[in-house]
Amino acid sequence: MATQTTPGSETFEYRAEMKQLLHLIIDSLYTHKDIFLRELISNASDALNKVQFRLLTDRDILQSDAERRIDIRGDKNENTLRILDSGIGMTREDLIDQIGTVASSGTVAFVEEMKASGKTIDAQMIGQFGVGFYSAFMVADRITIETRNAESDGQGYRWTSDGSGTFTIEEIERGDRGTEVTLHLKDDASEFAEIWKLKEVIRRYSNFVDFPIHVDGEKVNTVRALWHKGKSEIEEEELTEFYKFISSDFNDPLGHLHLHLEGRVDFRALLFVPKRAPRDLFREDYKYGLHLYSSNVFIQDDCKSLLPDYLRFIRGVVDTEDLPLNISREVTQQSQAMAKIQHALTGKILDLLKTWALDEPDKYAAFFREFGTLFKTGLGTDFSNRDELIELLRYESTKTEKGVYTSLEQYVDRMQSAQKEIYYLLGDSRSSAEKNPNLEYFKKNDLEVLLLLDPVDVFTVTSLPKYKDHEVKSIEKADLDLKMEKKSKEALSKHEQKKLIERFKSILSDRIEDIVVSRRLVDSAVTLVVGKAGMDAQVERMMRMMDEQFSGSKKVLEINMGHPLIRNLATLREKGSRDRLVELSILQLFEGALLVDGSLSAPSDFVSRMTELMEDATASTPQD
Ligand code: ADP
Repeated sequence: MATQTTPGSETFEYRAEMKQLLHLIIDSLYTHKDIFLRELISNASDALNKVQFRLLTDRDILQSDAERRIDIRGDKNENTLRILDSGIGMTREDLIDQIGTVASSGTVAFVEEMKASGKTIDAQMIGQFGVGFYSAFMVADRITIETRNAESDGQGYRWTSDGSGTFTIEEIERGDRGTEVTLHLKDDASEFAEIWKLKEVIRRYSNFVDFPIHVDGEKVNTVRALWHKGKSEIEEEELTEFYKFISSDFNDPLGHLHLHLEGRVDFRALLFVPKRAPRDLFREDYKYGLHLYSSNVFIQDDCKSLLPDYLRFIRGVVDTEDLPLNISREVTQQSQAMAKIQHALTGKILDLLKTWALDEPDKYAAFFREFGTLFKTGLGTDFSNRDELIELLRYESTKTEKGVYTSLEQYVDRMQSAQKEIYYLLGDSRSSAEKNPNLEYFKKNDLEVLLLLDPVDVFTVTSLPKYKDHEVKSIEKADLDLKMEKKSKEALSKHEQKKLIERFKSILSDRIEDIVVSRRLVDSAVTLVVGKAGMDAQVERMMRMMDEQFSGSKKVLEINMGHPLIRNLATLREKGSRDRLVELSILQLFEGALLVDGSLSAPSDFVSRMTELMEDATASTPQD
């Protein structure tokens, strides 16, 4: 192909993160070098898909009758590798914006995060965000792209870079639509100029590409969509490679679903549950969606309307004959057929998860650990599958080891005969939750408490008022049904208790909703619980994080009348001696409970009172 360079080329700088990213890719992927070929072929295939989609409604493009195919050529003498496609091509802006920048802001954020924390990145991690075009610099010390956009009045461009800091763009004469990428191979990558090597690498996934691939003129693929094969015809390894091809993930998938449904709606689907949650799963620019095909023709690769949001981690392909061929993206979103497919897919995915939960609990736990946070949000959005979702919930509890889950069903099976309610405690880590004094009563009486340690639980638990007729209740609420008797040591008389509570009230009056005798404490002297209308401590912590002015509602202070310190205070009060000490102790007890709760706003008063108490205690030691 004759190309003539016009004078005048422009040089651009990469964004600073680009270089870092490149180093990262090279360092972490050196054992998976051939990844780059998958990335380039996938780009070529995307570009061909775009042309094919465009041609459905518009034939007024450059070379509208040109065969849509990919050509790969190795040249041992020049030590080069060329990948050509007759796809949509790129404009000058595309070259600057798409090739000259990092794919997603998530990638940049991730690189910076890792750098700041001094951590190293391995291939597993890098696989989570897709390395794209730049991975070709692993094997090439210079790359040239020649391209012309499919618009009939498009212009040809040449992009060149050695990947180190700048790239150059110039106008060229180019007759053909599409893109030609030339890699000037590094010495230690010269095998990628060898035909046998190229064939070997490409064969692994060439059958997932919807267009013929020719290696040095020889066609190497059959172009028969994998999802059109019968279940028994597909090898496990083929599925794994297909998953990696469409998702750019390095890990094998955790599991898959192969569907062929006929009836109210006809479609075939190959769906995958990844092993790892991608880093950007919760970012706004997370690119999700299934690849949608209509009668074997690619429509789009990010079709969101096929999945509810809480299942957005699922990867895969859906092919249906129920859509009109000249369909636009907007139409797919509203179509009846799409809604029906979404409904069917959701049901099948939940069935798959249910099967794992029953037959392969470890696999299910691995799934839940990665995707549970997102999955639980379905409770608040997918009311038609509520019952299924509730059965699929998993939590740690005081009866599980750290990191081990229980289902609500298992919890209920273990409930004591007198126990009516399901108890939970919100917390931000297992260790801090386990130290919560409100747990003491439950430990003492061998009552299981679910530990809700995921930040999202604060919101999702509100969608779970009941399970199988058992109310689901926070143990931080004051209105628990605590029937079991607590054996306390020589509790104070009713009269003494009343007087002591009055003394507490006189000191704390305006800072507290009420003061009551505790039925739940065993080892601690006091604890704070939430009044009828109040919020859990964890919810308040969240509110305070979002709004510094947020003050929360007043709490109820519970006093353990069997605790030695409380009995001492009662004695001192009775004798009317050391009034200051009693007052300081009451304030310390209250503010100490606030501290444990994470809601002590002025720690300096607390500390100076503590100093005063210690001074008092050290001065009065009789032996000295
Ligand atoms: P990704 O494919 O994940 O978007 P890449 O870095 O591989 O990331 O490619 C960036 C973008 O460059 C693509 O999204 C596409 O817009 C453009 N591009 C790359 N290769 C081609 C090609 N052969 N034809 C047309 N556009 C391409």
